[in-house]
Amino acid sequence: MPDAAPPPLNPELRYNNYGGWIRRRLGTSVIRIGIDGGFSCPNRDAAGEGCFYCNNEGFTPGIRHADLPVGEQLRIGIDRVRPGRKAAWAAKGGLRFLAYFQRFSNTHAAPETLDRLYREALEHPEVDGLVVGTRPDCLGPEVLDVLRAIARDRYVMVEVGLQSISDPVLARIGRGHTVGDFEQAVRALRAAGIDVGVHLIHGLPGDTVDNFRGAARFLSGLDVQGVKLHHFHVVSGTRAEREWRAGLVGVPGYGEYVSACADFLERLSPGIAVMRLSGEASGGLLLAPRWAGDGERFAHDVTHELVRRRSWQGGKARPETVPKGESA
Ligand code: SF4
Repeated sequence: MPDAAPPPLNPELRYNNYGGWIRRRLGTSVIRIGIDGGFSCPNRDAAGEGCFYCNNEGFTPGIRHADLPVGEQLRIGIDRVRPGRKAAWAAKGGLRFLAYFQRFSNTHAAPETLDRLYREALEHPEVDGLVVGTRPDCLGPEVLDVLRAIARDRYVMVEVGLQSISDPVLARIGRGHTVGDFEQAVRALRAAGIDVGVHLIHGLPGDTVDNFRGAARFLSGLDVQGVKLHHFHVVSGTRAEREWRAGLVGVPGYGEYVSACADFLERLSPGIAVMRLSGEASGGLLLAPRWAGDGERFAHDVTHELVRRRSWQGGKARPETVPKGESA
């Protein structure tokens, strides 16, 4: 195996980082501005507590001014981007913004409400498109009609929570959907001309490293465009907290997760953008694990592991999952 990462991988990172991928996709650099559309989540509406690990306050700490209208949240978010940063990107070919409907399930409302909120976001002159986070079971035909109509002339990515490729694990953590539901959602979104990002968690109770590796192969065989990873961590105010305090569940170690990410990337098609390798709740809510350092250091350590292995994203991908013109 030659020791050089092939395109479209970032030669220094050894994986297809989202920044480079979205620049090629849209022809400009973009920043996502997280906003709160005032949605809820069917998993909470029905069962009360939601997913085993979820305290949404901990997962969307960057969203401020959630009580303001969507257009106003965007305006404030875009204005907060430092002029120096804007100028630097402008010099490199431009900077645009995507409205990121991030909090809870952002397709969980009446179609007319969704249409109104999405179009309100797109009215901002510097916003080129939408990123919408949701669950596989919140993408019915009427919701897809709204997204399809917008995707005809604006960029749309829907981020879908999968979390694990094991149905028993999904049941254990109370996700309320199956892997089959996820596959169906991906097919429907792609048929509507919408990019798909996938959320996946390493180290959930009952899950295995083999499943995590298998998830890379599984996603490589689907038509998805991006993947966001993070490790299982315990957040205050969740069922996970109760079980962790009772000694019933544990969290992955730092080195274990670095190795799992390298394993995952080696099996992931190089055409799929890596949107995130780590993420955790903000300090006040995070109980475990409490690793020193940040996402940047973690990404560096994953790259270092790939270098040590003389490998890269897709280095062990199945040939049929590697886009034409690229090698693995
Ligand atoms: S679906 Fe998302 S918002 Fe709803 S409970 Fe689960 S993690 Fe939380």
